[in-house]
Amino acid sequence: MKRRSVYAAVIGGGAAGMMCALRAAENNIGQRIVILEKADRVGKKLLVTGNGRCNLSHLGAGADSYHGEGSKELINILFSKYNPDAVLHCFNRIGLLTTADSEGRVYPRSNLAASVLDVLRMRLKDHDVDTVCGADIREIRKVRGGFEVIAQDEIITAEKLIVAVGGKADYAGRESGASVINDFGLAAVKPTPSLSPVKVEGDLLRSLKGIRASASVSLIHNGEVVKSERGEVQFTDGALSGICIFNLSRYANRHSGCEIAISLLPEMSDDEVFDELSRRIKLNRGGILSDIFVGLFHKNIGLALIKTAGLKPSASCSDISTEELKTLSKHINNWRFKTVPRHDFKNAQVTAGGVRLSEINHHTFETKRHKGLYIIGEALDIDGDCGGYNLQFAFASGMCAGDHV
Ligand SMILES: Cc1cc2nc3c(=O)[nH]c(=O)nc-3n(C[C@H](O)[C@H](O)[C@H](O)COP(=O)(O)OP(=O)(O)OC[C@H]3O[C@@H](n4cnc5c(N)ncnc54)[C@H](O)[C@@H]3O)c2cc1C
Repeated sequence: MKRRSVYAAVIGGGAAGMMCALRAAENNIGQRIVILEKADRVGKKLLVTGNGRCNLSHLGAGADSYHGEGSKELINILFSKYNPDAVLHCFNRIGLLTTADSEGRVYPRSNLAASVLDVLRMRLKDHDVDTVCGADIREIRKVRGGFEVIAQDEIITAEKLIVAVGGKADYAGRESGASVINDFGLAAVKPTPSLSPVKVEGDLLRSLKGIRASASVSLIHNGEVVKSERGEVQFTDGALSGICIFNLSRYANRHSGCEIAISLLPEMSDDEVFDELSRRIKLNRGGILSDIFVGLFHKNIGLALIKTAGLKPSASCSDISTEELKTLSKHINNWRFKTVPRHDFKNAQVTAGGVRLSEINHHTFETKRHKGLYIIGEALDIDGDCGGYNLQFAFASGMCAGDHV
């Protein structure tokens, strides 16, 4: 095996790793920096982010949007310097123009995720950062003055080692791995999937597959509302999906006995919903119960609500009692689905869990136990809500570590 020495080696050529390598190269002109990436190309996952548009940051990103033990403290320190403005300024400097939507989600001006990857790759090349692809790093040794990494057909000695291997969910929904970190005895939180569809019990969803509805949703556990969101719910076979559901998935995937309550007319009070249904019963007095949902919801949503209320879709409107209508109207703004925790990473956008934040210096991302070893991005026990928060953290942590190595 051939041997070579570099100043810094970055394991993982994803969002965090590429940004870190670039900053390290900008700060250490003339020093050798290498990225070791197991896939055949760097930044593959970036291409599929934001449905191919790459939602690379969020203007409102702050501590409240991140989860994991100690995440609020870490974000407050990190974003005091590497906030969304700083990340976007950095991208602007390296050639990427960005634009934000009305919600504050930031995308490349080109609307192409490839633009984000391309500017990073081009600037890495300008700075002579070496990229070794197909290097699935499985072994790292601590040696005097640094680290020894076994990569493909060579042994690389690095003074500084940055681990940016991401979480367990990779771009193809396959399980990826942060096993290299295990060698260092760092405390870690068991990984669980987050920003995923939420599985629900029963077969009601089968008839709703493919339907979308704008709603407000709440996750309920032990009778308490854990979190509420508003947005578009997507009904799929056996699971609820959509950004608002993704934001409930972290908790729902970790706890059994949860329910999701969907409110289909959140702008109306319970009395107003009842009045609206009563008006519709009168409007359709010659018709059947399922007719009252025409012009309000998708036909199959109406049918599923009637089934949930234990009524018959073919019942004559004139036969529906006030009590029955009350039961039906109750489900419209409190339609309950029992959730099922999931452990697989299929369709999950991020991993909750990873190396504990207490293992790293919050100002530099260097591990407290091993001088010269840095951990950044999703490999850490921190995950954000849906909307650009995760890439904002990946880039910000990459910038911070890159400025300190
Ligand atoms: C479909 C999808 C859409 C998403 N959309 C968005 C979005 O729009 N906005 C947003 O903020 N977030 C989004 N995310 C989440 C976001 O992509 C991640 O949070 C972010 O990429 C994490 O960056 P990272 O660099 O830490 O890890 P990654 O981007 O996962 O990079 C890790 C890299 O390390 C490599 N690697 C792993 N193990 C090894 C090893 N042993 N040796 C060598 N290399 C290794 C991997 O191949 C990978 O290239 C999305 C995720 C998915 C899956």
